[in-house]
Amino acid sequence: MLPAQSTPADDSQQFSAGAQVAVLLPLPVESAYDYKVPEGAEFAAGDIVEVPLGRRFEVGVVWGPGQHEVRPEKLREIVHKLDVPAVPGVLRRFIDWVADYTLQSPGALLRIAINPARRWVPPQAATAIASSGISLAAAGVKSTPAREKVMAAIGHATFTTSTALAHKAGVSSGVIRQLIDAGALKLVPLPYASPFTPLDPKHARPRLEPAQAEAASELVAKVGAGFSVTVLDGVTGSGKTEVYYEAIAAALAAGKQVLILLPEIALTAQSLARFAGRFGGVPALWHSDLNYKARRETWAGVAMGDARVVIGARSALFLPFRDLGLIIVDEEHESAFKQEDGAIYHARDMAVVRAREGRIPIVLSSATPSLETVINVRKGRYGRVHMPTRYNAAAMPRISIIDMKANPPEKGAWGRAWLAPPLVNAVNRTLASGEQALLFLNRRGYAPLTLCRTCGHRLHCPRCTAWLVEHKLTRRLQCHHCGFAAPQPESCSSCGAKESFVPCGPGIERVAEEAVARWPDANVRAVASDTLERPSAVQELIEDILDHRIDILVGTQVLAKGHHFPGLTLVGVVDADLGLSGWDLRAAERTHQLLHQVSGRAGRAEKPGQVMLQTHDPAHPVMQALATGESEAFMESEIMGREALAMPPFGRLTALILSGPDEVAVIAAGRTLAAAAPRGDGIEVLGPAPAFMALLRGIHRHRLLLKTDRGLAPQPLVREWLDSVKIPSSVRVQIDVDPYSFY
Ligand code: ADP
Ligand code: ZN
Repeated sequence: MLPAQSTPADDSQQFSAGAQVAVLLPLPVESAYDYKVPEGAEFAAGDIVEVPLGRRFEVGVVWGPGQHEVRPEKLREIVHKLDVPAVPGVLRRFIDWVADYTLQSPGALLRIAINPARRWVPPQAATAIASSGISLAAAGVKSTPAREKVMAAIGHATFTTSTALAHKAGVSSGVIRQLIDAGALKLVPLPYASPFTPLDPKHARPRLEPAQAEAASELVAKVGAGFSVTVLDGVTGSGKTEVYYEAIAAALAAGKQVLILLPEIALTAQSLARFAGRFGGVPALWHSDLNYKARRETWAGVAMGDARVVIGARSALFLPFRDLGLIIVDEEHESAFKQEDGAIYHARDMAVVRAREGRIPIVLSSATPSLETVINVRKGRYGRVHMPTRYNAAAMPRISIIDMKANPPEKGAWGRAWLAPPLVNAVNRTLASGEQALLFLNRRGYAPLTLCRTCGHRLHCPRCTAWLVEHKLTRRLQCHHCGFAAPQPESCSSCGAKESFVPCGPGIERVAEEAVARWPDANVRAVASDTLERPSAVQELIEDILDHRIDILVGTQVLAKGHHFPGLTLVGVVDADLGLSGWDLRAAERTHQLLHQVSGRAGRAEKPGQVMLQTHDPAHPVMQALATGESEAFMESEIMGREALAMPPFGRLTALILSGPDEVAVIAAGRTLAAAAPRGDGIEVLGPAPAFMALLRGIHRHRLLLKTDRGLAPQPLVREWLDSVKIPSSVRVQIDVDPYSFY
């Protein structure tokens, strides 16, 4: 069932005793439920209230006037209002908008917005002990030496605990309690102590280069001037961060709050330290790994306004900012902004909507803006600020292509090799001059596939449509989709042959094995997300690179973002073709973005960098764009390709993903939906077909894809479509408007 069109939320609406009001609950239900305002109470739209739900209680938000016809005696009463700031109208309107657009339940989005309030325990009002100004005699207590000592010790001071006062007076704390009870001492409430340090817009202002200053002043001019979208498009190392920090400084100076959205992977200690260095204080954080206390602190600080800047992942968009004045989306092209578990939405696109609802500016920053964003700039919907050169006249890295067909790797004593002779030579030179190299391969583990030499049987995950990946470090075969892990079997389950398994293709562990064999004197380290699980591990690794305890780093994209390593001058991309296979609308674009980003790691400061791309397809537009540094022609051909096929943003896609434990039921549901599919001009329905990951964690998955003309909103079509069929409850239907993943 889909959410009904939701209620408009008006900021100033008040509801007095007896009124029927809609309360939206943070649950994946269709729409708000109606309740009654009890005798003697009054609520405003946005109030966070507790209501009965079945036999339990739930926390929800007053959304507007009641919507349903309910007999008055059936209507249950709101219990009370929580002592927390109300959900601002702009956030309520935003939630309604996102729910309508993404066809998600508004409650599922509200859950992100108010989750910390659901388990809300009003903070213990902090108090301090002070003298009440009443003498012992006037308070009617006998003067004793211990009591006199306390009165002498307190004077005009305040103490936050009775133990502290007792300690100072040299008495037991029981004495203090007696004096409080008698009225000679009193408890005074303390003001709310914000856990957030103040931020100073002028704290460590860098001296900007003329081009940077110009870019900064364009962004600064947008602050306070209503809604605008500006794309900050500058090569890696041009100083985009320094530039958007200026806009943040302007918003802070105007007393506004700021939200910086980063891809989860870029939320590192380094990026926080950089912010703190610039503004003299730490920002509030928001991401999925925060503990409850930190989450609650950020939530309350955002709602009360003392958290001035939030650096967060996608869901920070739904925080109840009291007075948001600017949004920054850094690395706007990152597909990680598409949230795909639970509520499905694209945080970059929805951030633009949030800015529009709040009539504030938003900055989309990237060295490789997404195709959608480029088109929005061309159409004049978004402004653009361009920074074509690196800060400090640093040169862009030299990028060259290695044709793997012409330069096959030479097999060594250790076995198969993955590094072609030109790359091996470049590593030799790099090591000889005391510099560092990164061998980049976006594949964890030792080998992506293991097969039986005797019969060709491939080891695959029992729960997913995926090969098992050999990890030598942990001596296990792992599924990278569901986490399944098992030791390598001794014999083939298909033909029974013993010791017949061979690894196929490289992962970073295998490339590291080759590097160790080729350069026995060098310090080689393989890193991937699974080798860097502790947050401190990342920090240690960064220090190991900076202090040159590593000569050759073999890594996945965990290191592709935002780090600056002055000694790292060579980047070898082991398999530049890796992201290009498979059916994905954005495969080439993403490969270009990723490899551009990785290339940006090579050389920055005094030493120029060099990048080598190993490819089997040197003429591929992505390789050519990277080698020539001319991404315009590449983007042009991508745009033309999408336009010719009426693919987004020239047409619209909406995916329906059917899943369930019973394959027969899933297939039947697919057929039911296909039979009821919308028809008409500008409408096309593809599928149902098994998803690329047809089996994921033991769940069968099929997909349908609705393709509509740009001018045709898919939401009403999908609503009607789903309302017209009956899908058994064992089959889950997920709707993904503007899908980015086709798995
Ligand atoms: P980008 O985000 O465009 O890759 P950054 O903002 O990270 O670029 O800047 C790259 C590097 O140059 C950083 O180490 C940054 O501190 C430094 N930098 C950029 N501009 C300046 C400046 N005006 N003064 C001092 N350092 C700067
Ligand atoms: Zn699996």
